[in-house]
Amino acid sequence: MYELGWSRLGEAFESEFAKPKGLSIKACHIGADAHEELAVFARRACGKNCLVISDTNTRRAGGDEVVQALSSAGKNVRESVFQSENLDATVELADEVKGLASSSDFLVAVGSGTLSDLAKYAGDALNRPVLLYATAASMNGYTSGVVALEVRGLKRTIPCAPATGVFANPEHAATAPQPMVAAGVGDFLSKCSSTTDWRASNILLDEPFEPKAREFTEGIQEQVIERASAIGRSEPEAVALVLEALLLSGFSMVIAGSSAPASGGEHLISHYIDMKSALYDLPHDLHGAQVGVATVYCLGLWESILALEPAEIDIDALVAQRPSEVQVKEWIDEDWGPVAAEVQAQWDKKKMDPKGLQAHLETFVSSLPRMRDELPEDLLPAPVVKKALQASGGPVTPEELNAPIAEYRNGQRRGRYIRSRFTVLDLAQDLGIS
Ligand SMILES: [Zn+2]
Repeated sequence: MYELGWSRLGEAFESEFAKPKGLSIKACHIGADAHEELAVFARRACGKNCLVISDTNTRRAGGDEVVQALSSAGKNVRESVFQSENLDATVELADEVKGLASSSDFLVAVGSGTLSDLAKYAGDALNRPVLLYATAASMNGYTSGVVALEVRGLKRTIPCAPATGVFANPEHAATAPQPMVAAGVGDFLSKCSSTTDWRASNILLDEPFEPKAREFTEGIQEQVIERASAIGRSEPEAVALVLEALLLSGFSMVIAGSSAPASGGEHLISHYIDMKSALYDLPHDLHGAQVGVATVYCLGLWESILALEPAEIDIDALVAQRPSEVQVKEWIDEDWGPVAAEVQAQWDKKKMDPKGLQAHLETFVSSLPRMRDELPEDLLPAPVVKKALQASGGPVTPEELNAPIAEYRNGQRRGRYIRSRFTVLDLAQDLGIS
């Protein structure tokens, strides 16, 4: 009944564009028989010995079926079940998983973001296949070629081989805590602002942009918005739709060879809060919850930017009011203390001197008609996204997040400094919009 199987994903894999990339994702399956499909795949494509990692919650939500199916397929299964509480995606834990898996032919993770990233990292380091059994429709990392791990207290996005196979049973995923699927909607819908940032970076800075990385997700965004209330009720068919949307979103990053299609200014705000929470032990939220709130903000910024009248843009005044490098360095030192030099290095890669900023703003003014023409291809109105997030049960204002509101606001203003990628946060602040 919930068999979405390959459908769109299959088409994407077969596309003329994806083939030459030699993608290592060999199977994706969403359906009530996901555990069986995982075992069938393992029998065909993996060795005899496997390590299955899970946590005390995910072990109950599908772990049993996966382990039994693997055993029935003739595999020697070893298991590591972590405590759900305080399970953090740190590089130390990822190295521990690597050690545990060193004598296994392949790894299986039963879980969502953290467990997937631990397995992907270990599998990549050992050059072993990794199969993921997704237990929540909470984020788009299942099919991506990166992991997010804490390294010395700083959250880092580390490139790694994508999983070999991704399997999910929507009936299991529908039993995950409701905020998780709402977070998945936030992470998926963020692509309407991140892809806009990406396209704008192509227009203004001549950064590479690959339209094909977004083409195969067309249509599913509308479906997610339409089904937002059913998602909010965790109806399995609606959760299956979010799973499929997220797998496509992760896949778009693999095709683009960069996280740009799914990570723009809204992700910088989320990363800023995460980095602060890791450094200063502040409460934090699900990735997609933060991203959803920040997406609504970033879409609002784009609306203000595209509504500007060229005649009213006083470039000289904007260049004059740009914060000095001394000021920026003070902010970075204040925010990041022991790791300020690493953040400064990111900023140094994209900062512009007054002359550079002048030229950049002149390019913006002359490109505004083109941007008004082309950016709406991805851009959604902020109220549409806000309504969908609300209906799916997710937060839409910073006040609803666990993160301290002051840190969220700092993220809006200073998130631009933590990564060298151009985003709407840069453009808005250079244009005096906040
Ligand atoms: Zn994300």
